[in-house]
Amino acid sequence: MHKESISGLVLAGGRGTRMGHVDKGLQPFGGTTMVAHVLDRLAPQVASVAVNANQNLATYAAFGVPVWPDDTPGYAGPLAGLEAGLRRCATTYLLCVPCDSPFLPDDLAERLYAGLRDADADLALAVTEEHGVRQPHPVFCLVKASLAPVLSAYLAAGGRRMDGWYPRIKVAEVPFAQADAFRNINTRDELQQLDPALAPPARAPRLADVVSCLSAYDPDALPVRDAQRIIREFVTPVGTTEHVALRSALGRVLAADIVSPFNVPAHDNSAMDGYALRGADLAPQGDTRLAVVGTTYAGRAFDGAPQPGQCVRIMTGGVMPAGCDTVVPQEFVKEDGDAILLAAGTVRSGDNRRLAGEDLKAGSAALARGRVIRPADLGLLASLGVAEVPVRRRLRVAFFSTGDELRSIGQPLDEGCVYDSNRYTIHGMLQRLGCELIDMGVVRDDPQALEQALREACENADAIITSGGVSVGAADYTKQIMARLGDVTFWKIGMRPGRPLAFGRIASNGHGAFLFGLPGNPVAVMVSFYFFAREALLRMMGAEAPLPLVKARSNGTIRKKPGRTEYQRGILGPGADGLPEVRITGSQGSGILRSMSEANCMVVLHDEQGTVQAGDMVDVLLFDGLI
Ligand code: AMP
Ligand code: MG
Repeated sequence: MHKESISGLVLAGGRGTRMGHVDKGLQPFGGTTMVAHVLDRLAPQVASVAVNANQNLATYAAFGVPVWPDDTPGYAGPLAGLEAGLRRCATTYLLCVPCDSPFLPDDLAERLYAGLRDADADLALAVTEEHGVRQPHPVFCLVKASLAPVLSAYLAAGGRRMDGWYPRIKVAEVPFAQADAFRNINTRDELQQLDPALAPPARAPRLADVVSCLSAYDPDALPVRDAQRIIREFVTPVGTTEHVALRSALGRVLAADIVSPFNVPAHDNSAMDGYALRGADLAPQGDTRLAVVGTTYAGRAFDGAPQPGQCVRIMTGGVMPAGCDTVVPQEFVKEDGDAILLAAGTVRSGDNRRLAGEDLKAGSAALARGRVIRPADLGLLASLGVAEVPVRRRLRVAFFSTGDELRSIGQPLDEGCVYDSNRYTIHGMLQRLGCELIDMGVVRDDPQALEQALREACENADAIITSGGVSVGAADYTKQIMARLGDVTFWKIGMRPGRPLAFGRIASNGHGAFLFGLPGNPVAVMVSFYFFAREALLRMMGAEAPLPLVKARSNGTIRKKPGRTEYQRGILGPGADGLPEVRITGSQGSGILRSMSEANCMVVLHDEQGTVQAGDMVDVLLFDGLI
């Protein structure tokens, strides 16, 4: 059998120059990464697989394979990867394939092996023919491991060409019919074209197309959930991924599934300080007496195997000695010289033992892509030895306030003017979402200034958030200019506060950005942000994180007419019986920011709901913990 004599090596040691200096193997592709596809196709063909990489070593190691960097310094190309593989290869042959060939043939090893053996060659490479032109694929090759010194000598003399060392060895060419199977993905465009999961839609949808899916659409009386649905269907995620050091991954969106390369914990171990014993030794009645034959600490195992009637002193986290399946906590035993005594019924067989893989099983999905990384996830990734995490790049969001009456902090407050507060609440909300912020200040109600600001925002950001100027009869130009720059719609939403909302996509000089034109009133700004912009922005970041509404009991009557959604500022806390209870705070005027600041939640009264009686359950959105 040829398989046992061949090791597989994935060449992932390049600098990804043509892809913009990214680590090619780790680029997202078809729901995972490119290298994961290659490993999946290669592994069944060979005895074992390894990866040659020169950066992100821990990320590659997280696939559960050995990772071998080049020995020859300076990114010397694929031959240096092959050299690293040949030197470490434990089998007679090494089969190497590039990390950017996710469609490689599943009979590659078998056919190259047959070609090499038939020609009694040192190296066999795949060759295809396209339109009558012979196309060799030198990075898809099977090589005798004994050739390591020949290759090292060639590299040491400065040789870098894949075929440069062929004159020194015997080479066989093996024809393959499927040219497509050897397809390499070299540029970001190719990556996107070939990856259905990443490819942008053939034609960006128009708002009119999205809106036509609704059975009844009236922009002047749009229910909240219809507006949310249109926004959700219209926005698209930004595709780019980057790799960040583990600590910097907090709050970022995971770009690829993380699969556990090994069991966590790796071994059965003790959950207590005590004694590890064989459950079968436990006497059903009376005392059990066990001789203590050694000690095992966390990180320092006991290397004997206790016999029946023996036990081992063990510390929390210590590896269970062979044959032991139970731990009795130290406070439950009586010491008696070199032995312990424990009463019947103190522990049952299997107690206080943590099983290997009970936290994570090897090969199971530890974290799914699309997740916003939290502190516990950092720990989980660390427990898998992941040093670098694939995350979506930060979403760039530009924002500005509109209105001639607005003054920035530090300016004198002329009569009739107010300080621009919206930009600060928006800053805070965007920062919590983990966006990259582009604060564009206050823009006057002036057509030219507005157009310039919107164009600049568009050219630098993925999304734009403005406040003010979108209400009915507003004496300003915001709506006009927005409509002129793209596909924007202006809604009157059945809600309070925050009826007006502009939404769409605008473009300038070939750059497009999604636009959220929020109302001007400070409370309306926050409500519209949380209930319309937040989920859309997260979706653009590749995360699905619907608003976490919870139920709480209302402590009083809340007057409401069915037919629109109302958001009331509330304070949630324990009621007399300790269960969560919410009460409405102060004035609910849409300009009164103080009551928003006093509140710790919003009570959401949906369209169909009427007056709420004391004791009724209502939906609540808590501000704490909200991203
Ligand atoms: P508008 O939607 O532009 O008619 O604004 C509605 C109300 O919100 C007006 O009273 C504005 O003065 C106020 N407003 C608009 N933008 C801001 C802002 N950035 N900060 C504070 N108040 C604002
Ligand atoms: Mg205004």
